[in-house]
Amino acid sequence: MLFAGCSTVPNGTPQSIWIETTGYCPCGKCCGWHRSWIPPFRPVYSSGPLKGKPKKVGITASGTKAKKGTIAADTHYYPFRTVMYIPGYGTGKVEDRGGDIKGPARIDLFFNSHADALKWGRKRLRVQVWN
Ligand SMILES: [Zn+2]
Repeated sequence: MLFAGCSTVPNGTPQSIWIETTGYCPCGKCCGWHRSWIPPFRPVYSSGPLKGKPKKVGITASGTKAKKGTIAADTHYYPFRTVMYIPGYGTGKVEDRGGDIKGPARIDLFFNSHADALKWGRKRLRVQVWN
């Protein structure tokens, strides 16, 4: 069955896995960047090995544009383009990674606004995974 606005899921039987999900958005709080103090005030990483280096805001680790349906996961377990169905969120695809997204039981779900990401909060759900 197809719903408007939803991407299709692959053929085959998905695995059903308990995963702790959190929401994130492109903002500095969620993605660890702040604006440089030097004009033109470009976004730079706030911490980690890339601290102070320019950051492309809204671009995922796989190089796609982050949008609703973008999932951040540990790509050792869920490689880029793994399709997942998250109850209450919908169908998404692994296109990103996150600093504290480690292991098979953690994913981060993209929202367009920080308010929506906060509203999702943290939910432990049975996620359908096609891989
Ligand atoms: Zn945010």
